[in-house]
Amino acid sequence: LFITIEGPDGAGKSTQIEQLKEHFKNQGKDIVITREPGGTEISEKIRDIILDNANTAMADTTEALLYAASRAQHVHQKIIPALKKGKVVICDRFVHSSLVYQGIGRGLGVEEVKAINNFAIEGIKPDVTLFFDISPETALKRKTKNNEGDRLENEKVDFHKRVYEGYKRLIEKYPEEFTIIDANGTIEEIHKEVIKAIG
Ligand code: C5P
Repeated sequence: LFITIEGPDGAGKSTQIEQLKEHFKNQGKDIVITREPGGTEISEKIRDIILDNANTAMADTTEALLYAASRAQHVHQKIIPALKKGKVVICDRFVHSSLVYQGIGRGLGVEEVKAINNFAIEGIKPDVTLFFDISPETALKRKTKNNEGDRLENEKVDFHKRVYEGYKRLIEKYPEEFTIIDANGTIEEIHKEVIKAIG
């Protein structure tokens, strides 16, 4: 079972992933929680190149290809082997994040970014993708509370709005690929919805 988790920052993804981990553990399932770059050495190096060059001259296309390259290694070295062993794999952000951040956010085009990612992922598809639906205002408020406002300066409301609108456009385009979770409730309420969604 391959589950991917999507949504804007501040949607509560990490908290719910922890809850989900407990849920599967209680069922006696073997579970792998991962996120890009996935702790693989090659992916980490690629990720470092992306981060070292934030706000510099890196072309948007380069960034998109590096994300895809990092993902390719993560899929090859970690996700596919775990799935082959019958483990439950939960991945915090996957291809859909690139479609939103690079495809829509950077304006490279959803189809274009999808094409390079299709090449990268060796044909694997998530069984379930949960989209944590939260208004940009609430997400930003949560983040501010968590981080004492220190990131508020950089993470402006309109960036959050753009990301949120990006996800909405993607869901309209590929509705069958998403299960929408109302992420405005309490931790317990959201957890219940998540459990219902994964059956
Ligand atoms: O919520 P999380 O910590 O996973 O967010 C990481 C950040 O990395 C995002 O807000 C986004 O700016 C960036 N990102 C990106 N492209 C991706 C994945 C993440 O730009 N494909």
